[in-house]
Amino acid sequence: MSKKIAVLPGDGIGQEIVAEAVKVLDCLCDEFGLPIEMESGLIGGAAYDEHATPLPAETIALSKDSDAILLGAVGGYKWESLDISVRPEKGLLGIRAELELFSNLRPAILYPQLAAASTLREDVVSGLDLMIVRELTGGIYFGQPRGIRTLESGEREGFNTLVYAEYEIERIGRSAFEIAMKRDRRLTSVDKANVLESTELWREVMERVSKDYPEVELSHMYVDNAAMQLVRDPKQFDVMVTTNMFGDILSDCAAMLTGSIGMLPSASLDLNGKGMYEPIHGSAPDIAGQNIANPLATILSLSMMLRYSLDESSMAERIEHAVNQVLDSGLRTRDIYADGMQEVSCSQMGDAVVKAILSEQL
Ligand code: NAD
Repeated sequence: MSKKIAVLPGDGIGQEIVAEAVKVLDCLCDEFGLPIEMESGLIGGAAYDEHATPLPAETIALSKDSDAILLGAVGGYKWESLDISVRPEKGLLGIRAELELFSNLRPAILYPQLAAASTLREDVVSGLDLMIVRELTGGIYFGQPRGIRTLESGEREGFNTLVYAEYEIERIGRSAFEIAMKRDRRLTSVDKANVLESTELWREVMERVSKDYPEVELSHMYVDNAAMQLVRDPKQFDVMVTTNMFGDILSDCAAMLTGSIGMLPSASLDLNGKGMYEPIHGSAPDIAGQNIANPLATILSLSMMLRYSLDESSMAERIEHAVNQVLDSGLRTRDIYADGMQEVSCSQMGDAVVKAILSEQL
């Protein structure tokens, strides 16, 4: 039975990079029989311009009715002076909340061909392929009570609450174990169980969930050590799972190991594995409309979608091999250009990936 994808290009380079991902998807459908139908919707500034809201009811309905969502990016200079309640970014936060996307997958992949883009030594990072699973809807960013209060002494005090219910830990744990099952089956749970009771419970629940995944090797690491190990020897990790705040920090650190914002995809999943897939970068208004953006992060988001929401791993592999082949051949968009390579536009890069898919012998 055919599956349905909601395509939400959004603003700025979102329009250009999503067009290239759709090209790739069209190729997989037409040439390899991938049973997918697509329907487009508006989000962000583009939606505000037509409907006076960054997240129209039609877009929510379309997303709920789809098996997965492909998003470009939202935001831009044009909408910066709007009231915060209708800014483009509200559309993004709104859809994550509407769909209860609690599991955020942030891979850090460094293609050996781009190893020079990293600030770390080539032998430390070349070939890095790490997945961070971050809890996205709980923890200290949402815990109550929170605020800034004035004490009897007149001094002010800021406070937040780090709270995790067992069910929240269990569902992110299961999500991470499922991901590990599709990779090298090694999972590192990152906590601060020596100091924080909430993560003492985190560790206990991870151990419990691991009983259902005997094929996955579970280990635990304190977050300070994890930060150190990420820059010392990042290739030791396969999948990491951690809390909202620890994941926020560690995933940005891991992304920067690769040195290239235009190459990194991401996913946010719900309890049933339905997900929204998007590049980690924004709408890049400084280069929008010039056909020079790198579409590979979005094309790789599509391959994550095929693997994690649509159960089409072989199609995901086709995309990943094709991207490798294109990089091997020396084609580069401006953001990843290096001496001796051939600079191509956004649409030429999309065409090159399609051509590589068509020439693959899998
Ligand atoms: P950004 O990620 O859009 O851009 C940062 C820098 O990276 C810019 O110089 C840009 O040209 C470059 N860049 C980003 N993606 C690129 C690509 N694919 N190819 C080549 N170069 C690329 O971040 P920003 O400038 O801080 O934000 C711009 C707008 O995007 C803001 O409105 C912001 O709110 C929004 N934003 C949206 C998302 C999202 O939709 N998920 C995420 C971050 C920022």
